[in-house]
Amino acid sequence: MSIQSKKSTDKKVKATKKSIPAFEWKYAPAPESTDHIDIKPQYELFIGGKFVKPATSEYFETTNPANNKVLSSIAKAGASDVDKAVKAARKAYAQSWQKMPARERGKYLYRIARLIQERAREFAVIETLDGGKPIRESRDIDIPLAANHFFYYAGWADKLPYAFPNRKPMPLGVAGQIIPWNFPLLMAAWKIAPALATGNTVVLKPAETTPLTALKLAELIQEAGLPEGVVNVVTGFGDTGAALVNHASVDKIAFTGSTPVGKYIQKAIAGTGKKVTLELGGKAANIIFDDAPIDQAVEGIVNGIFFNQGHVCCAGSRLFVQENIASTVIAKLKRRMKTLVVGDPMDKNTDIGAINSAAQLKKIQHYIQLGQQEGAEIYQTDQALPDKGLFCKPTLFLGTSQSHRIVQEEIFGPVLTIQTFRTIEEVIEKANNIPYGLSAGVWTDKGSKIFNLSNRLRAGVVWANTYNKFDPASPFGGYKESGFGREGGLHGLYPYVQFEH
Ligand code: NAP
Ligand code: MG
Repeated sequence: MSIQSKKSTDKKVKATKKSIPAFEWKYAPAPESTDHIDIKPQYELFIGGKFVKPATSEYFETTNPANNKVLSSIAKAGASDVDKAVKAARKAYAQSWQKMPARERGKYLYRIARLIQERAREFAVIETLDGGKPIRESRDIDIPLAANHFFYYAGWADKLPYAFPNRKPMPLGVAGQIIPWNFPLLMAAWKIAPALATGNTVVLKPAETTPLTALKLAELIQEAGLPEGVVNVVTGFGDTGAALVNHASVDKIAFTGSTPVGKYIQKAIAGTGKKVTLELGGKAANIIFDDAPIDQAVEGIVNGIFFNQGHVCCAGSRLFVQENIASTVIAKLKRRMKTLVVGDPMDKNTDIGAINSAAQLKKIQHYIQLGQQEGAEIYQTDQALPDKGLFCKPTLFLGTSQSHRIVQEEIFGPVLTIQTFRTIEEVIEKANNIPYGLSAGVWTDKGSKIFNLSNRLRAGVVWANTYNKFDPASPFGGYKESGFGREGGLHGLYPYVQFEH
């Protein structure tokens, strides 16, 4: 390069910097206090209304991924513990819960909802310590939504005849429920609330890295005076979940987690007559048209993928931008990424907290490497990451195509790929050309485009001019390898009832 042309390139870079100024100021730290938190050094299994030692006599540690400190020691349930929990649930079903007038069941659900609200701060802090998500999210999203789910299904408990007119809905019996680590209390609420409202009893298996809020919920359920055995919590690893899936006396399996485990579960219960719902992985398209409000769309992109470190099944991990606005959107997005605070999840300023586990961080790093090997252009901000704990910078991949693995496979981290498109037909084709079908986002000024796309995108949820918005009254679930069955809303009652023939 000649000296002259180098100078002119430098000038260009400076000019771009001038038009989009760099973010230079910082927030003072604002950490949430942990003084009011009671985490016991050891937790037992919650079976038949009591905390009991595991027959295995084994315990595992749950840690804080932001600093790798051990938080508590957790009982590991073996097959005989799972059997005990299922028997307790069966007994509670036959002796109390099924027979109880529906309005009384509703009262218990209201009580749980109110108790969660009363102890919201404690739950939020424990969720953040155990899982690594920013306190702002656990405080403003996870915990209030979990309480709202209990309120919502409490309302349905004595109105089931209106939910299913001219049919007589009856409970199934014992529900085995298995949940992941990305929204621990919220996923427990999504599972437990509709099951109890419809008269079923429950054995819940939380994820091994985030068992604490489910165990806190068990304490709260005890406090609420729920009949013994209506809700049981068995902590452990994948084999604990498998024991629950394979237990002969479980009537229904509700699973949220990865697609491979979902497939395993479906095979395991084939021919048993057990009912099943599977909420699995995702790789959502977030689509920005040239008539979209661009600044809001950029916020939506950031919220869609960097929210909760991208540990969101419905994360907007594939960005599609109409070609004529791509350079503007990318420049604004890069600038916004520079303002994102990555660090201590307990700090109220933090946007991106800790990655949930070392295994998950390794998986994300693998995909970041793979993206570069595949020839995509990487963009990361130069913010330093904390020395301790498990963290990952928000990452953008430009120049990606449909065949790249980083575009096709679920990464489950703060990694976004960008593709451009010219026409509606093209973007629908590209958005649907993926094994998953959980969610999608559309950003446009035109209502007609929203209706067109929401009908033609093969995704369970399509957000329009917003992203990652949840409400207990709104059903959620997938197509294709994202699973089947719906949770939330009236639809969320169906998987827990049967009808007289
Ligand atoms: P995962 O590995 O499938 O684990 C989910 C749960 O299943 C955990 O409690 C896990 O226990 C348990 N488990 C593991 N192996 C099992 C087996 N053989 N039989 C029965 N249970 C078993 O998923 P994850 O990594 O925790 O969660 C991330 C995945 O969840 C992502 O793919 C994400 O997209 C998906 N997700 C989907 C939704 C949705 O609504 N569609 C919502 C949230 C997350 P251990 O923790 O002990 O391994
Ligand atoms: Mg943990």
